[in-house]
Amino acid sequence: MSVWAIVVAAGSGSRFGGPKQYERLGDRRVLDWSVAAARAVCKGVVLVAPPDRIAGPEPEVDAVVAGGATRSASVRAGLAAVPADAEVILVHDAARPVASSRLWQAVVDAVEAGSEAVVPAVPVTDTIRRRDGGTVDRAGLLAVQTPQGFRADVLRHAHESESEGTDDASLAEAVGCRVTVVDGEPSNLKITTADDLAMAEARLR
Ligand code: C5P
Repeated sequence: MSVWAIVVAAGSGSRFGGPKQYERLGDRRVLDWSVAAARAVCKGVVLVAPPDRIAGPEPEVDAVVAGGATRSASVRAGLAAVPADAEVILVHDAARPVASSRLWQAVVDAVEAGSEAVVPAVPVTDTIRRRDGGTVDRAGLLAVQTPQGFRADVLRHAHESESEGTDDASLAEAVGCRVTVVDGEPSNLKITTADDLAMAEARLR
């Protein structure tokens, strides 16, 4: 099947203090690790970048487009650049540079095997407490990661109404699609703070 990836890298990194996806990690930028992982399993890759960075050379990707004000808007901008004949589309946060090729492949395999929408997820190991009091039973909770994979028509349908969410599977589920969970990787951290970047460095060493 024709598999494409959208790597979203248009966030401002307000909690990090700047666009963390452009920080150095090992011998390249954070987002380069995400693009390389996408390239390994996908026919094409669309990079969604901050509007002021779309002019720079990005030789490893097929298209660079300007992101929007929210993650969902950025995914929609990427979606517009994915060819109409793509059959499977993966969406990945550039800020997760250490997702393994094995994980990318597992997500593709699950879509190719018939799932409409696929998310990698890991059990929640912390005790979760509500800000307004009370503890949530973690046994029923999963922490969801990217890359998430979709039948192309499902992802396009999920974004038709321009709804907002912190991931794409939630939008697909909101329009009636069934979401399949595959095992995520505890090491697949999302870089949010400077400490996360140090942890990713350690992991790559
Ligand atoms: O903000 P958050 O950590 O949820 O961002 C997840 C991913 O979405 C990051 O890779 C970030 O660069 C991207 N993003 C985007 N456009 C936005 C906001 C976030 O591409 N407007």
